[in-house]
Amino acid sequence: MRERIEEAKKKGGVEEVILVAATKTVEPARIREAISCGIRDIGENRVQEARKKIEILGRENIRWYMIGHLQKNKVKYAIKMFDMIQSLDSLPLAEELERRLAKEGKKMPVLVEVNIGRESTKFGIFPEKLKEFIHALREYPHLECRGLMCIPPWSDNPQNTRPYFARMRELMEEIKKENFPHVKMEILSMGMSDDFEVAIEEGANMVRLGRIIFGERKEGK
Ligand SMILES: *Cc1c(COP(=O)(O)O)cnc(C)c1O
Repeated sequence: MRERIEEAKKKGGVEEVILVAATKTVEPARIREAISCGIRDIGENRVQEARKKIEILGRENIRWYMIGHLQKNKVKYAIKMFDMIQSLDSLPLAEELERRLAKEGKKMPVLVEVNIGRESTKFGIFPEKLKEFIHALREYPHLECRGLMCIPPWSDNPQNTRPYFARMRELMEEIKKENFPHVKMEILSMGMSDDFEVAIEEGANMVRLGRIIFGERKEGK
């Protein structure tokens, strides 16, 4: 898998790709194994599940990311646990994060989740609203916007997903051009087990991989 990432990096002209292990439903013992193989970046979808795992595995040498939809009533826990929230998907959530972070005197790196396929079943900001959304984040000084994240429409052929990844890169460039002083557009988090190579070819510098590392998950998702 690491070789496949290297190949794709050449095609995409990407220098560095951060591999985030997506560990929902994976038990701590198996995550520990992945850590012993060099994994340092871990993405979790649920606050409660992540909290148990962080208690067991600790934070030393590990960066914990929230990659699932974050409910407002979980924000107060999330800001104490995660090193970055990749799923900033609404202004009310930004507002709640800001309120809690300000109280704690803490800043939080975030990625804005883009609903790149405009799917009703998914969270995220619609592409045409993205610039306005990111501009609005200037009101929330405890959020450090570092880039974009997406989960494109599912397809069994990753080539069908390519245009969505390409559009994400364009959006990233468009936001960069705005030179918003409160924003650093550095991270493009896209690509999962079935399509990470195509994502990297289109400019992803962070991929989130679950099944290809840990095998098929038992329940759903
Ligand atoms: C589960 C998940 C992944 C990883 O998906 P795989 O297909 O198992 O690689 C990536 N990102 C998010 C947000 C996820 O929920």
